[in-house]
Amino acid sequence: MDFDSAASTDSTQAPAPIAWHRGFAALGAPFYAALAPAPLPQPYWVARDFGVAGLLGLPGQWLHTPEALQALGGNTLIAGSEPLASVYGGHQFGVWAGQLGDGRALLLGETATGQEIQLKGSGRTPWSRGADGRAVLRSSIREYLASGALHGLGIPTTRALAIVGSPLPVARETMETAAVVTRVAPSFIRFGHFEFFAWRGQTDALRQLADYVIRRYYPACRDDARFGGSPYAALLHAVSERTARLIAQWQAAGFMHGVMNTDNMSILGLTIDYGPFQFMDGFEPGRICNHSDRFGRYAYDQQPRVGHWNLACLAQALLPLIGSAETAQAAIASYPEAFNTAYLDAMRARLGLVQPHEGDEACLAALLQLLAEQRVDYPIFWRRLAHAAADGRFAPVRDLFLQGSGFDAWFLSFKELLAHTGRAQSADLMLKTNPRFVLRNHLAEEAIRAAKLGDFHGVQALQHVLARPFDEHPGHEAWADFPPDWASSLVLSCSS
Ligand code: AMP
Ligand code: MG
Repeated sequence: MDFDSAASTDSTQAPAPIAWHRGFAALGAPFYAALAPAPLPQPYWVARDFGVAGLLGLPGQWLHTPEALQALGGNTLIAGSEPLASVYGGHQFGVWAGQLGDGRALLLGETATGQEIQLKGSGRTPWSRGADGRAVLRSSIREYLASGALHGLGIPTTRALAIVGSPLPVARETMETAAVVTRVAPSFIRFGHFEFFAWRGQTDALRQLADYVIRRYYPACRDDARFGGSPYAALLHAVSERTARLIAQWQAAGFMHGVMNTDNMSILGLTIDYGPFQFMDGFEPGRICNHSDRFGRYAYDQQPRVGHWNLACLAQALLPLIGSAETAQAAIASYPEAFNTAYLDAMRARLGLVQPHEGDEACLAALLQLLAEQRVDYPIFWRRLAHAAADGRFAPVRDLFLQGSGFDAWFLSFKELLAHTGRAQSADLMLKTNPRFVLRNHLAEEAIRAAKLGDFHGVQALQHVLARPFDEHPGHEAWADFPPDWASSLVLSCSS
């Protein structure tokens, strides 16, 4: 079916499965270009998330229909949608990159339930900058699984409704095939949207965008008396706090985003744009997961600092609205403290400590140093520690350390702290905060290899397990095990 016939509203059409709300689209020019997705030949389902369908108010049945496959592949339009590609800018690897924008993503619209739906990989847009507008199956599976995995861990993230694959060849380092991921979030607005209009000196557009974001997502900022009563400074502060909490959760989970450019920073503090991300295997604070990141700007231990740097870019962009550099600076000044508080809270929970106690920070610091010195497997350490708190058998934890004496010294201080909470309560908390399953690189890779051969069971089973990563999931023990040797030779770049 071609785009035009699908878009027309003739009486033979089935009722629209989605009730829309005109949100971002109502902003009009100069924020976006309206355009249709490019057709995707021979689309097929790779995966679907019926939980995400519920967020959209979609009848679950719809995802089983041929109409859904055509719509989410980009071949037809869901009745009432107004697809558009938005324009934004951004700092990439610390350098202003000028105009970027949705080069391969299309916003289909916002549902009446307040969720925006976006196709990623649906063809060229005015902001494609000579690239093909496509995404490959490999990176689409990674994005899909990661969105589900972070959500399962309780970390704010964009969600993924489905992956539609196609035999369409796409050239990357090797020839691959195309896929379209349908992403869902209350908003896909990035820091870079603000930076773009500030850069262009379009203060009216900048204000229109900020007012929209405040009205829709941060209404409390309108009446915030702090920061000189500027709602824009209050917005900056609120984004700063959310970003601090997000990155604290990444650090606690051992998650590395890989490309924390300002165009990949969500104004809602969501994890967005999954590319060469990685979950930590053996603990290595300076770990660089993105092969294209030659100087380690986005290494694991740099992420908190980069978050603050990115907020300074947002502050700069909002300056024409805030009016005072001092006020803008004050609005993001609490970032380090907000980060530390959130990070310590998360790590205390991982340690089974219900409340702060004197010595807990030192105990955590000593532990992280030990884990780093011996490159102990991060997820397995935490899960074994949780089980040890539950059954009192700490030998499996000690076995993870080549030099047990270092662990023994740490363990004494830990046991003292644990006594404040009580083992049963600690164990309970730890089993809910230390997942048995994380989306390690090699697990995604195995699922991708099978999918490339037409077998999507791995993607679907992994999605299912990662949605409830704290459960035991009998039969999937191997996914909770150490990474195989070949995992360390996996190379992830920005190519997607
Ligand atoms: P990313 O590094 O994936 O966040 O992308 C940075 C910018 O490049 C964004 O503006 C993307 O829309 C754009 N981009 C990345 N890959 C493609 C592609 N294959 N076709 C068009 N635009 C792309
Ligand atoms: Mg991006």
